[in-house]
Amino acid sequence: MKFISWGAAEQVTGSMHMLELHDGYKILIDCGLDYDNNKKSYDNDHFPFDVEDIDVILLTHAHIDHSGNLPTIVKHGYSGQILCTAATRDLANLLLSDSVNVFMERAKKKKNHSKKRSFQEFQNRPLYLHKHVMDTMDRFVTIPFEQSFEIRSDVQIQFIPNGHLLGAAAIELKITENGEVKTIVFSGDIGRKNYPILSDPKYISDCDYMICESTYGGRLHTTNRTIEEVLIEQIENTCIKQPGRLIIPAFSIGRTQALVYSLHKIFNDKKLPRVDVFVDSPLGMGGTEVYRKHHSLLNEEAQSFFQKFGDQFEFDGLKYVETLKESKQISNYFEPCIIISSAGMLEGGRIQDHLYNNIQNYYATIFFIGYCAKGTLGRRLLDGTPIVKINGRDLSVFASIHQTDLFSAHADHEGLINYINAAKKKLKKVFLVHGEKESMTALQANVELMGINAEIAKKGTVYEL
Ligand SMILES: [Zn+2]
Repeated sequence: MKFISWGAAEQVTGSMHMLELHDGYKILIDCGLDYDNNKKSYDNDHFPFDVEDIDVILLTHAHIDHSGNLPTIVKHGYSGQILCTAATRDLANLLLSDSVNVFMERAKKKKNHSKKRSFQEFQNRPLYLHKHVMDTMDRFVTIPFEQSFEIRSDVQIQFIPNGHLLGAAAIELKITENGEVKTIVFSGDIGRKNYPILSDPKYISDCDYMICESTYGGRLHTTNRTIEEVLIEQIENTCIKQPGRLIIPAFSIGRTQALVYSLHKIFNDKKLPRVDVFVDSPLGMGGTEVYRKHHSLLNEEAQSFFQKFGDQFEFDGLKYVETLKESKQISNYFEPCIIISSAGMLEGGRIQDHLYNNIQNYYATIFFIGYCAKGTLGRRLLDGTPIVKINGRDLSVFASIHQTDLFSAHADHEGLINYINAAKKKLKKVFLVHGEKESMTALQANVELMGINAEIAKKGTVYEL
């Protein structure tokens, strides 16, 4: 059979890989949106193959860099099934609809800037619309975790939890060719051990080929402190010792729920006096509903917390902000408080208003809990820019800017090595994908030192497995 990486080859977005069997049967693994910040333009609207030739699509998880181009492939005529776990389906529904909203907002902004219909305007049209998302959702078929499912008499698949996001999985394919069974694993994005709410990634010991992510190759997370310790310190310094505000930009799905649960535990254990918390993200509320619905997937600790204290995502002093009017009213709230809002890199979303209202406040702290790509407002603040432009105005930065990488839902270098090492016995080769060149080279060197053949997958290159 053949393996071809069509996306997330030597970059971190646009995941899309293909397995082509001896008789031409084509399996696509992930179909993500390419928005690599190092590129000047991306062409998500064209596929490097005939979409009608794809027989089935398998989806590792709902993040938009893995799922975000599914409506485009459906728009272009893909009429087969999209297989994933139930939680991934529910989160993808939210995230794909949100993508349309982002496209529409962007198109509206650009249209306001150019009065004439132009090629530029054509370029900025939404990639797909809500109806395409609905057509896409009709194609989803869900499969429980760790249950073998036959997609053809010679192809069995299994979704194995990888601890990266609710519903996220590595996909194991057992393919019979000429009487021989070969096991291929697509790792998806690999999560971390001891992450709030999520179960640890499950290692896979029996596989011939692994297509492995490498986002944090060559980098280690700060491990000497726990999420709880870091949060307690931040809240104490910003909201308790002084009457300030702690503003946490957070992705609506995954990080927001991890954060709310961690705060619930801190206040519940009386490690700090209660501080009011606003969660200002409509997408975040939708995401929390999905986490509640798939409660049985949460880790043991979160489940036993639920047995003892009830809903992990609800506590005294926590308010989910629904309307834009309520969101704007937070600026008139003068008690110390924590505001959790999206987007995580400060590009768009309700967080913009909170920044506008607080960036010149000496008693405000912006606490980044995720990575901010080059060129984003978040990155500029982290780089120490003294003045930022928000809502068309230049504002001096008087608020404090802090950061932690403890909430990253990606395994670091050591986590990736442990994941690969678990499969060492039978592994013939690891193909590295989903990483910047530097990270991939560092991971490749270490994997080869372990005596395992490792190759950085090149986009469009055909590999025989
Ligand atoms: Zn992901």
